[in-house]
Amino acid sequence: MICQLYAQKRPVLSFEVFPPKQDSQIETIYATLDHLTGLSPDFISVTYGAAGSGNAHRTAEIASAVRKRGVEALAHLTCVSTDRNQINTILDNLKEKNIDDILAMRGDLPAGSSLPLSKDYRYASDLIEDIAGRGDFCIGAACYPEGHIDCDDFSVSLDHLRLKQDAGANFLISQLFFENDLFWNFLEKARLKGITLPISAGVMPIMSRSQIERMIFLCGASLPSKIIRLLHRYEHSPADLEKAGVEYAIAQMEDLVRGGAEGVHIYTMNKPHVAALAINRLRK
Ligand code: FAD
Repeated sequence: MICQLYAQKRPVLSFEVFPPKQDSQIETIYATLDHLTGLSPDFISVTYGAAGSGNAHRTAEIASAVRKRGVEALAHLTCVSTDRNQINTILDNLKEKNIDDILAMRGDLPAGSSLPLSKDYRYASDLIEDIAGRGDFCIGAACYPEGHIDCDDFSVSLDHLRLKQDAGANFLISQLFFENDLFWNFLEKARLKGITLPISAGVMPIMSRSQIERMIFLCGASLPSKIIRLLHRYEHSPADLEKAGVEYAIAQMEDLVRGGAEGVHIYTMNKPHVAALAINRLRK
């Protein structure tokens, strides 16, 4: 189980992948998984319907494919419009597939969605409490170095994070951020709030301008001027932008490791070559 990894080693190195879109064959991700598992990360997480992508039903199958390739898998799960019975069915299905680790979140309704809100779960902590009550999963939860986009008070955002720990979460994975000082400040404040869980720092290499614009709009992460300058300098050269973006992310990760981060979680965007560059440099 993933929670045991944090007790055994530092840093825990992990990757995140997302399932292919609904109109692509699920097999299209298997070559990516072959590459990523070949890099022997400590675990690979698989997103669940993120940003209204409609691919949530594929998460369990892909997590199972990760496990079959000999790497621990973390299945993301959200509850924003799912009731308790449906969640229990999903959890049973994950168990059948040999998945013991879940990143339990509230999630968001896609823009313009007419889906009803869950009658059983209001916040991620409600879902975490339910899963913890079963006693058969190791539970991760999301955290936000700059606070969650819907919560204007950073300190209150940390109180909400504390509720996830109290509900039974075992570890945390952070939202992406581009300045490590934001992460270190968050870590210090979280510890002062009594949050003792291991925390993996989420890092996303910039691969294109549109990707980064979409992400910062969705999660509210701030862009330092160093990144804005890169976007400007390589405006007409996507290949150079990707190269510079990956270098930036690797420097960020090296600094996190030097500073003693318990884990580094790489948002791979399903690009194994980027994950390979990063993990090989971190292991040097
Ligand atoms: P919560 O912890 O419930 O928080 C949601 C909001 O409610 C916050 O503003 C919080 O401050 C507030 N809040 C919490 N508890 C209380 C309370 N008791 N009273 C009042 N307010 C409260 N989304 C996907 O759809 N699929 C994914 O696979 C996915 N993967 C992610 C992975 C990571 C590492 C991260 C950081 C995020 C991921 N997300 C994913 C996005 C996530 O679903 C959104 O950020 C969502 O808006 C919040 O989810 P949460 O679990 O943090 O919610």
